Amino acid sequence: NLAPLQVPDRLLLGPGPSNAHPAVLHAMSLSPVGHLDPAFLALMGEIQSLLRYVWQTENAVTFAISGTGTAAMEATIANSVEPGDGVLVGVAGYFGNRLVDMAGRYGGDVKTIAKPWGQVFSLEELRSALETHHPAILALVHAETSTGARQPMEGVGELCRQYGCLLLIDTVTSLGGVPIFLDEWGVDLAYSCSQKGLGCSPGASPFTMSDRALEKLAQRKTKVANWYLDVNLLGKYWGAEHTYHHTAPINLYYGLREALRLVAEEGLVACWQRHQTNVEYLWQQLAELGLSLHVEKEFRLPTLTTVCIPDGVDGKAIARQLLTEHNIEIGGGLGELAGKVWRVGLMGYNSKPESCDRLIAALKQVM
Ligand code: PLP
Repeated sequence: NLAPLQVPDRLLLGPGPSNAHPAVLHAMSLSPVGHLDPAFLALMGEIQSLLRYVWQTENAVTFAISGTGTAAMEATIANSVEPGDGVLVGVAGYFGNRLVDMAGRYGGDVKTIAKPWGQVFSLEELRSALETHHPAILALVHAETSTGARQPMEGVGELCRQYGCLLLIDTVTSLGGVPIFLDEWGVDLAYSCSQKGLGCSPGASPFTMSDRALEKLAQRKTKVANWYLDVNLLGKYWGAEHTYHHTAPINLYYGLREALRLVAEEGLVACWQRHQTNVEYLWQQLAELGLSLHVEKEFRLPTLTTVCIPDGVDGKAIARQLLTEHNIEIGGGLGELAGKVWRVGLMGYNSKPESCDRLIAALKQVM
């Protein structure tokens, strides 16, 4: 005799998920149709076109993985790394390390280039690592959610062409909130999530692959070591044949379609600008409270800010109080930054001045 479900009405200003837009919630509440229903197949096509737009790519293979960001991450690795392939991973935070672990599990000969958490790689540093290791794939985290740093991508694709390797990037905390130009940057594989900058629920994760990456896939000597994420099979599901592969989480795809439509309606550039304007407002208010930020201004993400916890302050207790007394979620530090920073996300629907005002007013009370 459980009561019908009720959930607290939280303002999600942590590293994700962010609150879903009301129109997205409405879309997800519509009745499911069959996953091979012509109406659903048409929606899949719309998702693909909209994803190409938000990522600024013409890649034919652009679709969503039915799973969270980690599943889409695994799709890029599973379809690009063959046993013995050299994989160079830039590690300056938690998610760089996840890529290292994953590429190793697929038999990659993994090498790393590392920087202190919160810093980014220069072109010269990347060139020198490519010169040393000559990998088949360079993997970088564009938006490192554990640190709040944005890896500049200009010129990296050209370097990869010079060294004959593919470029794979994580855009989980950048898609929809931070400028991304996949084709202009020469990115070959990318993945993201639905629950951050796009303002949807978690579980339907953008994935894309360039023609160069597809050529490498076609030349494999071994089968992709993951049935569910094999693009040879997934491509037939998302392609014109629409061959049954798995039962898509229909309502999540309704939500993703609506979230992407909202970004297109606002306009991609306006959406990026909104994220930047609101985060600058947040930074200014945090500075007025005497709080300092972990990442140098030039490399800060507009979607995720790491705030240094002042000496003598119990960061966990403050976050707990924000949640229980003010219904506001913020994140704590991950890995090396545990106990040292709070992580404040202003993503998607939540990137607005009212979110900052509510957080700052609550912070003033609890501190
Ligand atoms: N990569 C980055 C940069 C992330 O921030 C996250 C999650 O926050 C992931 C990958 C994994 O995504 P998910 O938690 O949706 O599986």
